[in-house]
Amino acid sequence: MIQIRLNKEDFEYDIHSLVKAFYPSENVSVCVDSQESCEQALLHIVVDYEPNRIRIALKQHSSYTRVFSVDDGNRKEKKNLLKQNLYDLLSDYTGRTLPWGTLTGIRPTKIPMTMLEEGKTDAEITDYMEQTYSTSREKIALSIEIARREAQLLQRLDAKNGYSLYIGIPFCPSTCLYCSFTSFPISGWKNKINAYLDALEKELDAIMRYFAGRHPNTIYIGGGTPTTLESDQLERLLSVLERKTDLSRLLEFTVEAGRPDSINRQKLEVLCAHGISRISINPQTMKQETLDLIGRQHTVEQTIDSFQLARSMGFDNINMDLIMGLPEESLDDVKRTLAVVKELNPDSVTVHSLALKRAARLQMFKEDYAGLKMVNTQAHLDAAADICAEMGMKPYYLYRQKNMAGNFENVGYAKDGKAGIYNILIMEEKQSIVALGAGSITKRVYADGRIERCENVKDVASFIERIDEMIERKRKLLED
Ligand code: SF4
Repeated sequence: MIQIRLNKEDFEYDIHSLVKAFYPSENVSVCVDSQESCEQALLHIVVDYEPNRIRIALKQHSSYTRVFSVDDGNRKEKKNLLKQNLYDLLSDYTGRTLPWGTLTGIRPTKIPMTMLEEGKTDAEITDYMEQTYSTSREKIALSIEIARREAQLLQRLDAKNGYSLYIGIPFCPSTCLYCSFTSFPISGWKNKINAYLDALEKELDAIMRYFAGRHPNTIYIGGGTPTTLESDQLERLLSVLERKTDLSRLLEFTVEAGRPDSINRQKLEVLCAHGISRISINPQTMKQETLDLIGRQHTVEQTIDSFQLARSMGFDNINMDLIMGLPEESLDDVKRTLAVVKELNPDSVTVHSLALKRAARLQMFKEDYAGLKMVNTQAHLDAAADICAEMGMKPYYLYRQKNMAGNFENVGYAKDGKAGIYNILIMEEKQSIVALGAGSITKRVYADGRIERCENVKDVASFIERIDEMIERKRKLLED
């Protein structure tokens, strides 16, 4: 356990996130205005705010103390200085640096993106990110490259009258050990699916009223695993979308067919018939023992067969998701997975670093899994980047999560013309995203860059029962 003591409330969340980045597997507690010291703590960090000055000390280690001046009137600068000094202190103490330095947010590419929009050069962005956030040169170069590519891809959007539509299908064949999404095993919900689709249709009708005259640029059906729906249910959902929305300016229509054990020819035929332009078939790993361990209940062969079936039916934009840092996987295991993926030759690959969120079983019952080794290094990410480059892909979007293995990032790679625009929009927040279904979050992006959100309840039964309330939340957010 690591104890952080502050003499008053300020920047607690930022301090906690940064300390957690150095000590991902430790509990980190923050107490304000308390003299109580936890004897068992591995490390005590004391932060004292004084007028225009901050003092940070690692208690019991008097040589690790920093006292520095700040301008209390400039919160952004004060926060950066606080994080920078804490980072340097922890770096000296642990002998480690972090690839992203003091950056703990999920959208690091927003910094180069904003600076590029302001006309800054690569050298200016590099200097700024290095000095302000101690980000490594390698990660800065990656984030600038991606920001440039994102900006180019987003040019095709209609920022004024366009929007993106997300539809959440929160069911999966089983729950993966690391899952923290809104997802429930489909077996328990079979007799509620039609009621769920009724609720979605009602929500969609409302959106069409509130956003009359506007058109979706991208549609993303995700979850969960949308292809857990039966083919007639998929047919119903896609027909409703076709009938009720203006698809004439749609740039991309994605359906997550994520779990190979949810895919069959009939369902793919439905997707094909409705012009789905992009699907995802996600191996995560091609090592059977890992699939069994993480509760995915499908085989490596099913992944390969589903992919080949989709290809043979004409799907020409297939994404594959991979996860680095899965339990008991060595670098050689990852390289073997990458070799199979290369053989299949998908159009895009998203490389995730395992993130253990609080709601994941792997985290909730961590004592039960304490013996499992989870390793993710730059070598893992480099191996993935090399294979993607060999397949002719370039990195086009990037995001980070809390508690990521190795403190790295998730990167999407794609061949030319195959990038998932919706993925970029989620990160860069340049267009409103209207989200339907249980657990989804709608974001309205205003012309001045302001962003407001509204959420749907996560529980499926409550979503169905309280659909009018969900619609009312959207009305307040979307109606002008
Ligand atoms: S497939 Fe994805 S959404 Fe479904 S249980 Fe696994 S991690 Fe969660």
